[in-house]
Amino acid sequence: MLKRCGIAVCLLCVSFSLHAQAPVADMHLHYKWTQQDVTSPAEAIALLDQHNIVMGVVIGTPAQLALQLQALAPARIVPIFSPYREGGDWYRWAYEDATVTRARAALSSGQYRGIGELHVIGGFAPAFDKAIVLKQLLALGNEFDVPVMIHTEFSRPDFMLSVCEAFPDTRIVWAHSGALLEPADVDSVLSRCGNVSGGLGARDPWRFVNNPLTDEAGMLLPAWKALLLKYPGRFMTGSDPVWPVDQLDRWDEADSGWQELGRFWSFHRRWLAQLPPAVARKIGCENAVVLFAPSSSLSCD
Ligand SMILES: [Zn+2]
Repeated sequence: MLKRCGIAVCLLCVSFSLHAQAPVADMHLHYKWTQQDVTSPAEAIALLDQHNIVMGVVIGTPAQLALQLQALAPARIVPIFSPYREGGDWYRWAYEDATVTRARAALSSGQYRGIGELHVIGGFAPAFDKAIVLKQLLALGNEFDVPVMIHTEFSRPDFMLSVCEAFPDTRIVWAHSGALLEPADVDSVLSRCGNVSGGLGARDPWRFVNNPLTDEAGMLLPAWKALLLKYPGRFMTGSDPVWPVDQLDRWDEADSGWQELGRFWSFHRRWLAQLPPAVARKIGCENAVVLFAPSSSLSCD
């Protein structure tokens, strides 16, 4: 009898753990040519189901690949317009007037609900005063009332401060929350610019390894935890599924990032669980839904 009870209890545990994964919203998904080679749109949606991801912001490369996912799950997938079509576009976009024309056409079509991810990397990007294309995209974000996702990579927060102060009416999603910056620098941006939300996609043990959010045991570092608690309505997270990890601009090899969603989200769920439940729910789900899909009926329950 005892033995039978043990088995019953065990089965209960299994079913509990399957459903115990809190719903999350993934604010940073890519769907690229190289990913489509190994993950069909239907498989991608099945993976979202499997990991209880109730909403996904999808950056297609090229942009229209995101629409293939949205066609299968219209409420859950939020396609945002990426200007990238081929290798090298991650730095070229900032110098081409056509980027703005294409972005306007994409937003006018009503099919996209954001712009990004735009890479602004030290050594490749124009200085802010010369960043004409970026400024026009930020103005478009305001005109169409959609968020603009920007990935900055500098050792100081000055570039993002210039951006957010110059465009206070544009909602800006700061991909990776500065990537290389200390919590105090991130705080300086969030405290001065109420229009900035911090994304934590790819802030995991495999990317940005020199600026971790957690220690090796997965425990949030005190300064990051304090920052998340100071701004519970301003952070969101995501997987940024790129795998192998050095594949940012590779075009000749399959990218199996979607197969790693479980890896990325187990890490994020672990640190989210160290926050008060209401804060974890906001950062893990609600903030992204409110920002990217405010009129949807998507639920984080
Ligand atoms: Zn990025």
